[in-house]
Amino acid sequence: MLDFDQPNLSPTDNVRRDILKRLLGVTALSALTPEFLKQAVAADTAGKTLMGPRVPDVKPTQLTDKLYVIKARDKFPTPQNLGFFTNITFLVTSKGVVVLDPSASVEIGRMAIRMIKTVTPKPVIAVINTHYHGDHWMGNQAFAEQFPGIPMYSMKESAEAIKNVLGEQWIQMALKTTDKATRGTVITPPNSFIKDGDVLDFGDTKLNIHHYGKCHTPYDLLVEFSGTPYMHVGDVLMGHRMAGMGDNEGSFLEGMKVLDKIKSNFGDRTFIPGHGQWRNTLLAEEIALFQTLYNTSVAVIKETNDDPNGVGIALKRIKATPFMVEYAKHTPDFENSVAKWTSLAYLEAEQNNF
Ligand SMILES: [Zn+2]
Repeated sequence: MLDFDQPNLSPTDNVRRDILKRLLGVTALSALTPEFLKQAVAADTAGKTLMGPRVPDVKPTQLTDKLYVIKARDKFPTPQNLGFFTNITFLVTSKGVVVLDPSASVEIGRMAIRMIKTVTPKPVIAVINTHYHGDHWMGNQAFAEQFPGIPMYSMKESAEAIKNVLGEQWIQMALKTTDKATRGTVITPPNSFIKDGDVLDFGDTKLNIHHYGKCHTPYDLLVEFSGTPYMHVGDVLMGHRMAGMGDNEGSFLEGMKVLDKIKSNFGDRTFIPGHGQWRNTLLAEEIALFQTLYNTSVAVIKETNDDPNGVGIALKRIKATPFMVEYAKHTPDFENSVAKWTSLAYLEAEQNNF
């Protein structure tokens, strides 16, 4: 399942599953249900006739002399937040402004441009999308309009996913979850490709690009700002937020390896996540979260010899851990999220242990 997932989004679950199967190379014969097509047409008609409302200004928070974050209002999309639930990071370099993950609509992108202009007269010269989820690229459109021809970077596979199927899927999901506040937003996929080990040189600032494998999606990028203690991590680390991971998109087991690698190479950084507050403790928290979910599942599977009720036993045990008791206090929609994530972790643990 995708990032926009909330408890009431089930009608399109099967469709999304099929889309992901296709994205991941599995043939799906019947991808679109009549119900989904009806919803899509209704949303599309509304989407093309009007622009969504102007998104209120959010003053950028300055982290260093060059680095800023426009902090999202919430962690999930609602009609009230107009889809602004993903932090936008930007960097003012000697060559111009570089924007990371410009959130989930053209109007949010326009707001970000207005805010950038309050801190520098320099033009935006590049955009980076850390992964293919729409809340990290649907704002691209505003930058393509105002700064025509600029490079928009992602991994090649992320751009392909957006162009193939997921792009339209995200446009529709955003309309649905915001009561059409994101209307007017069209697919503007990344047009330039980066991969692990690449360095983007912006004069006085270099961005080191890392891809450590599958975690939140198969193609997550981590962006290191040379000369600063900060690292932009997209959705590889999320502050008190559980989303995605389903349908073979993410992996707890592979993700734990990714998190370990971040710990050994960048354990001292302050991590800027796509959702929630930037802080150093994000990494330890995400490691504990993944380990609690996955390792408890493995333990229960082994103890019960893969009892059919094992997932319920695992859920109870996971929720009772001191880590989860504390995590729950700060995590929106914890009850639904922990049940979903436990079932995903349990399934993955079963696949790897039996
Ligand atoms: Zn996200």
